[in-house]
Amino acid sequence: MGYAAFDPKSPLAFFQFQRRDLQPHDVHIDILYCGVCHSDLHQARNEWGNSTYPVVPGHEIVGRVVAVGSEVTKFKPGDMAGVGCLVDSCSDCSECQADLEQYCDYAVYTYNSADRYTGKSTYGGYSNNIVVRDDFVLRIPDTLDPAATAPLLCAGITTYSPMRHWQVSPGQKVGVVGLGGLGHMAVKFAHAFGAHTVLFTTSANKVEDGKRLGADEVVISKDPEQMRQHMASFDFIINTVAAPHDLDQYLMLLKRDGTMCLVGVPDHPHPSPSVGNLIFKRRKLGGSLIGGLKETQEMLDFCAEHNITSVIEMINIQNINEAYERMLKSDVKYRFVIDLVSLQNESQTTDQTGAAQSGMHINPVAA
Ligand code: NAP
Ligand code: ZN
Repeated sequence: MGYAAFDPKSPLAFFQFQRRDLQPHDVHIDILYCGVCHSDLHQARNEWGNSTYPVVPGHEIVGRVVAVGSEVTKFKPGDMAGVGCLVDSCSDCSECQADLEQYCDYAVYTYNSADRYTGKSTYGGYSNNIVVRDDFVLRIPDTLDPAATAPLLCAGITTYSPMRHWQVSPGQKVGVVGLGGLGHMAVKFAHAFGAHTVLFTTSANKVEDGKRLGADEVVISKDPEQMRQHMASFDFIINTVAAPHDLDQYLMLLKRDGTMCLVGVPDHPHPSPSVGNLIFKRRKLGGSLIGGLKETQEMLDFCAEHNITSVIEMINIQNINEAYERMLKSDVKYRFVIDLVSLQNESQTTDQTGAAQSGMHINPVAA
């Protein structure tokens, strides 16, 4: 059981469904915590145009293993385990062979994707349990707080991976655009990698938080004078903004051969940046998608070593719709995490009142 969006406009509501039967390579996890990513909101509301309803969002999952298939050797009941945005891929193509499963043409996402075993839609972590192929399950370091670790499974790896790819290192000047879920992890990683870290925010009330999180400087991006002071000075900028905006104002801040990597996926395209801004200083505009399983484990282990977790605000599943509204107002400090114990309370209410109560949906196939 979990919470689902049933169409692009209605609030998320209780939904009862079953996970697939345990396969030899499957790990069955009871979910304790699930982070709330802006991608959940995009897909719940069909903003990318690819949602198949019902959508059970959630791809920042931490929980406890309760059962494993006969061929599983890496996990046993009782282990803490994590699941991010991917639950399967083809394992054969050049991307999978290079540990870049996220770029596999047959990658299966944790929700709103077709399960390779059943052909039915996958359902994510706004739920009490999940069944996942063992190669797609992460080890959660036991020194890290499990709730604050959940957002590392998407917000963490999505910012860690491009910074590793573009080799962010000491001596560099690195910009982070937007202080939300991804942005606050990007600030922490850029700082941990030793770069001079500059946060760009539209929210004047986030300046002190930005500095506490590791930014050496914070720039209010709406202030042209502050922006001008950083002209042509950055090696790398990671842009996490979830809405269309003017990219030129950041491209101009890159020095020769600098790169801006987009990770935000807005519902409408950004206005096209000016070609002149790219060619006159050989600047590059790129993108990056989450990270592969090997790199995600490496990121978790890096976080354990450097004591890095997400700054979270814990919510009950019943408050998810309100959390989405706050996310749209850039009012997230800095990741909502659902405590799935709250779903148990709901099931007790359900047991007492019956399933016909309004706002409750039962999957006709698998109830
Ligand atoms: P979030 O927590 O809502 O943070 C986004 C931040 O962007 C806001 O807090 C705000 O920061 C800034 N912002 C929002 N609207 C803005 C606007 N109109 N103009 C300027 N700045 C604005 O979202 P998130 O969970 O970090 O996700 C960010 C984006 O990344 C989403 O589009 C999500 O789908 C995408 N994503 C991509 C990947 C990937 O693999 N590439 C993975 C996960 C998520 P300030 O208040 O500081 O300005
Ligand atoms: Zn995400």
